[in-house]
Amino acid sequence: MKQTYINKTREEQDKEIREYFKPYANEDCKVCFGVGQRGWLVDLGQYLICECVMRNIELEKRIKEDEERLEKLSREAGLPEGEVFC
Ligand SMILES: [Zn+2]
Repeated sequence: MKQTYINKTREEQDKEIREYFKPYANEDCKVCFGVGQRGWLVDLGQYLICECVMRNIELEKRIKEDEERLEKLSREAGLPEGEVFC
């Protein structure tokens, strides 16, 4: 079985993409059709993750950071636990 530079076979990567990246894909994406992968890089032995997945992961990260910042500011301002500015 051919190992890739990230030490995962194509089958393993395929499984990972379905488990971890597909949920982030846009169902109406014209590139990956909601699957989350764009193509296979023969030279690297690696799947390309679709841009829509990257965008959604980045967006989720930013939302989470915003929530944490808001939470921190609310605690500093003395709002009771569980309450935040809105
Ligand atoms: Zn896509």
